[in-house]
Amino acid sequence: MMRLRVHHLLCSALYAGRGYSEAFCENMQHVVEWLWNSSYAQKKERQVMLVSGPDQVCSACPNLTADGCSLEDDQVVGKDIRLAQALQLETQKVYAVSGLLAQVSQNLTEDIFETSCKKCDWYEMGLCDYEKLAQKYRQI
Ligand code: SF4
Repeated sequence: MMRLRVHHLLCSALYAGRGYSEAFCENMQHVVEWLWNSSYAQKKERQVMLVSGPDQVCSACPNLTADGCSLEDDQVVGKDIRLAQALQLETQKVYAVSGLLAQVSQNLTEDIFETSCKKCDWYEMGLCDYEKLAQKYRQI
């Protein structure tokens, strides 16, 4: 089972190989492979614990401190909680990957994406956009 914070459901779908460090990128690539690049049967078997705190992605991130994410004084926790509500997901709950991705696909809107992502550095660098995200979720 993998711990995954809610907003990483969007980051992992749009991941393009850039990151905070080499170790971060290697780990993120592993998460993307595990979550996205697997068969439907694997997605039905694999499980995610959805969280609003440090997760598998954060574990290799230089921004992670003992007090949580150092970016924006850990306001990222609020971002996870708001996104979970918008997508009708629950934190501290275990989901099969297949069901989790399907639920995001069903509930995701451009407004939800913009609200969650528009203040992020990667968004401001032009690496993330709703059409790419929606297309990825349409393909599951
Ligand atoms: S520690 Fe912060 S910047 Fe790093 S992956 Fe986690 S949420 Fe993102």
